[in-house]
Amino acid sequence: MRIVRTIAEMRSRPAGKTGFVPTMGAFHEGHLGLMRKARHENEQVVVSLFVNPTQFAAGEDFERYPRDLARDQALAEAQGVDILFAPDVDEMYGGGPTTTIQVGELTERWEGAARPGHFDGVATVVAKLFNIVRPEVAYFGQKDLQQCAVIQRMVQDLNIPVHVSIEPTMREPDGLAMSSRNVYLSSEDRQRAPLLQAELMKLVEFAAQPEVTASSIDEAIHESWETLRNAGFAIDYLEMVDPDTLLPIRGNKPPYAAIVAARLGRTRLIDNVVVR
Ligand code: AMP
Repeated sequence: MRIVRTIAEMRSRPAGKTGFVPTMGAFHEGHLGLMRKARHENEQVVVSLFVNPTQFAAGEDFERYPRDLARDQALAEAQGVDILFAPDVDEMYGGGPTTTIQVGELTERWEGAARPGHFDGVATVVAKLFNIVRPEVAYFGQKDLQQCAVIQRMVQDLNIPVHVSIEPTMREPDGLAMSSRNVYLSSEDRQRAPLLQAELMKLVEFAAQPEVTASSIDEAIHESWETLRNAGFAIDYLEMVDPDTLLPIRGNKPPYAAIVAARLGRTRLIDNVVVR
């Protein structure tokens, strides 16, 4: 596996169907699963490791985001990755970040509302990475459901010649969605954290009932909200939405998704369960 630090060197790589996995590092099974899928489906696998400052809002965890290149390098190599692209901030934004991609309506709610500028940062860096790596296929995790919708929309609207492949969320044995941020959790909060997925599962099961009504779904959401609040979660949002438009829906006809973002202590967790 090669470690590449510059855009110029990325551009000079050999031809061949390329699968690309953009990441911010601190690898866990979620990342490694994407790498294995890419390995299985492509001649070459490129993984980017870049903690992108422009997708962190002021006061978020950019500085303390976990970083361990040596460990990540070994893990990527073990999945058969060909190139680990790890540019520094200057290499990516040396000229100053003047052009920004705004995907519009899809980014207004949920993560977009809770984290101002987040999706502009994500869309812009992913577009840059697509132009640098020029992959045939790019792999993203359903864990970040709104991000998946935003990237798919950007690719469609800007006619970017990349196939976007969305992979299922990898979870710990107790159901907690894997995340690089889980390491921030105190042991007490770590014990509570699986309640997030449990409440999402309850909501989608509730919504699947034939007799379900809009007001009974409202009530179920309210109950889950209370359950989580009583367990110590500070909730940013908890909703039933269409997984593609991210607009709230009330009904039992798939597709639908239960989505949540909540804080435990200083750690912000997101999760979703999709029914298609
Ligand atoms: P990140 O390093 O957090 O930016 O994540 C890089 C990629 O891994 C994104 O496409 C994420 O959606 C994906 N990812 C993160 N956590 C998980 C997970 N638990 N299961 C599957 N994919 C994940």
